[in-house]
Amino acid sequence: MADTSTYALDLEADAARYPDEAGELLMEAAHQWRLGDDATRAHALLEQVRDLGGEDAAYACVTLADLAFEEGDDDQAHAWLAEAEEVLNDNSGAAEMAGELLAEYGRYAEALRWFDLAIGLYGAEAVAQLRNSDLPSPMAPMFLGRRDVRRELGLAPDEYDDLAEELRRRGREFGERIEAYAAAQEREDSGQRLVRLLVWRRAEQAEAAQRWPEVFTAKVLGNHRTVEAELRDGARANPADRVELVIASVAGFDDHLTRTGNDPLQEATRLAYMEEAHAGGEILAWPPGRNEACWCGSERKYKKCCDAPDPLSAPG
Ligand SMILES: [Zn+2]
Repeated sequence: MADTSTYALDLEADAARYPDEAGELLMEAAHQWRLGDDATRAHALLEQVRDLGGEDAAYACVTLADLAFEEGDDDQAHAWLAEAEEVLNDNSGAAEMAGELLAEYGRYAEALRWFDLAIGLYGAEAVAQLRNSDLPSPMAPMFLGRRDVRRELGLAPDEYDDLAEELRRRGREFGERIEAYAAAQEREDSGQRLVRLLVWRRAEQAEAAQRWPEVFTAKVLGNHRTVEAELRDGARANPADRVELVIASVAGFDDHLTRTGNDPLQEATRLAYMEEAHAGGEILAWPPGRNEACWCGSERKYKKCCDAPDPLSAPG
């Protein structure tokens, strides 16, 4: 609380020093006073911003409406919203803020009117540009907010609702690309890539084949030599990679399927199970030492099993 008010007082002092930015600084100071439970002081600052005019005036009026709703004074809130509309000019952002506020209080029909106003002020040309781009947009919340209230009102999706979905998809894809990029960077920083593979040891695999015959087909059963060959090819191509084998178990896989309801035939399911097994279970570094037990669970030494030069000398 003390920190909040200290910061708020600093902002007020700055507002006096930099009149060009006074509106924005006082809005932030008001926000801080609200966080510090001093609604009265926040109120006084917001009225000051309203009196300053300009773009911040509409934001101030919507925030004053928010304070009034909080105090349970709906009439006063609507009076502030009416005033916001008077000083709105082309402030699409303030209209969107009013839409969000009304949606929060379950006043969906009113919220929709403000969202429509916001999109109208944003402009047909800008909307067309959004449509023709494949980039994410900071305007997504405006369209998504409108879409949400239209759903609440039971309205069928319109073209802006479709755009809202499209913008959300773009935002998600963009986020995924960033994450993939960050993960790749991490690998580069450490100089090695971590390759993870889910493996079924012989006994578990045989049991699993009884349980899920459609997953563990004849082609998959006893595939350890093939897996070993693939791992070696991978190691030759990318010698810096570190390989981890995540050991699968019938009990663990069964538990995963029961808990998640996932389809065992889906690759995504096996990946999800691998993540889980990795977090909580047995992991082997590959390749094992030549005299260590083979990773395939044959109970033979690696050099006498999957690492044997002659496949015929190895079981499977
Ligand atoms: Zn083996």
